[in-house]
Amino acid sequence: MKQAVIVGSGAGGATVARELQGHFQVTVLEAGREFRPFARDLVLLERLKKTGLFFDERQVQLLFPSMRVRKTVDNMVLVNGVGLGGTTTISAGNAIRMDRDLLALGINLDAEFAELFREIPITTSHMGRWREVTRRLFGVCREMNLSPYPIPKMGRYERCVNCGRCVLGCARGVKWDSRQFLHMALNRGARVVTGCRVERVVLEGGLATGVRARQGRREVFYPADLVVLAAGGLGTPVILQNSGIACEARLFVDPVLCVATEWPGVMQNREMTMPFVVQMNGYILSPYFDWLSFFFNRNYRYPAGDTLGMMIKLADDSVGSISAGKIDKMLTESDRARLSDAVDVCAEIFRRFGVRVGPRKERLFLGTINAGHPGGMLPLTEREAVTMHHSSLPPNLYVADATLLPRSLGNPPILTIMALAKRISAVCARGAW
Ligand SMILES: Cc1cc2nc3c(=O)[nH]c(=O)nc-3n(C[C@H](O)[C@H](O)[C@H](O)COP(=O)(O)OP(=O)(O)OC[C@H]3O[C@@H](n4cnc5c(N)ncnc54)[C@H](O)[C@@H]3O)c2cc1C
Repeated sequence: MKQAVIVGSGAGGATVARELQGHFQVTVLEAGREFRPFARDLVLLERLKKTGLFFDERQVQLLFPSMRVRKTVDNMVLVNGVGLGGTTTISAGNAIRMDRDLLALGINLDAEFAELFREIPITTSHMGRWREVTRRLFGVCREMNLSPYPIPKMGRYERCVNCGRCVLGCARGVKWDSRQFLHMALNRGARVVTGCRVERVVLEGGLATGVRARQGRREVFYPADLVVLAAGGLGTPVILQNSGIACEARLFVDPVLCVATEWPGVMQNREMTMPFVVQMNGYILSPYFDWLSFFFNRNYRYPAGDTLGMMIKLADDSVGSISAGKIDKMLTESDRARLSDAVDVCAEIFRRFGVRVGPRKERLFLGTINAGHPGGMLPLTEREAVTMHHSSLPPNLYVADATLLPRSLGNPPILTIMALAKRISAVCARGAW
């Protein structure tokens, strides 16, 4: 059987592995290791916080090796997952179909989304278990005619205990993540190599012949008839550029800013992450306890149980780039204007909730701008709507992750990335290598 090498085991990579095993002998190369949820006692860490021990978000990696934190030139914090399951293991489990831009290019993924809805348990049943704070926030958003709706979540939420640790990895296995697709691929005979960082694709005679990777101190060559890159919106462009294939400086990241206040006894830190969403023009709003800001941002000075927050997630302009060691991504003036509008809307939500927000937004404070939905550096165009193959790539090299998205979704992208990955797998399965 012909050999396919897939780089990365997150949303895109695990989907392709599952779909292609059997058509090809699949080997998944993953830079990280087995995923383990964050196991530390958050109450103890909250006590340690007072000693001033936590001063840089990158320290998270020491306590939680499956989470990688980087900073842009402009000091924006970027978060992604490293290890089996990629960033899906630290996701909030949200499943929202967001393919308007792809449809505009002529890429209709109806069949792929239908398949995903059959394969993954997706539910809004968590609504029945919302705490008082979430129900009240939901009511306020309705009263403001913001049309909030419960976010569909991937997993078995009837077993959720509302521990509030979704983005730290679900210790109870409630939340679905892409390791489930990976296991299916393994059961069908695929191979997964962890601790294997792919550096570049080897190109000869206009074709990809395999990849060069670093495993510990060793440099290893994996031969392949087909190579699929799914190392994520920050990982894939670096591999392409190392291989001599240029990307476009069109990086988006979906920046997140939390607006928070003190509300004694609210216990939002023990509520499911992002229980509902409000879709606005160019951003979304959702209730959110921001762990990263809580530990590393001095504005977060109240106890976790007394802190109430709303997240703003922005659909940012595609103006950024990554090279080997440097991520260049800034907020544009238009990004900042939308953020400022969003902060005003949050202030009104808190006002109606009962917070005595003054005209200069007294009693509110802001979190650290951070982001975790990178992509866009090799965007698909109308020309590629049928082939799903970017014209700058050799015929047997494909990309199957957020790198292909034409612009920011400003929304959870996992479902859309997986639908794209399914279509790409179908094209590859028919391919003539
Ligand atoms: C805190 C947080 C919460 C989120 N919540 C949600 C949510 O609820 N719903 C949603 O839809 N989205 C959510 N997202 C975003 C979502 O998880 C990602 O956008 C999605 O997983 C991206 O899929 P991907 O396949 O492109 O990359 P990833 O899932 O990031 O997978 C890439 C994989 O490639 C590996 N890799 C990278 N470089 C190399 C290399 N050189 N060699 C080998 N392997 C490599 C990485 O280790 C990783 O495992 C969240 C993100 C964050 C940070």
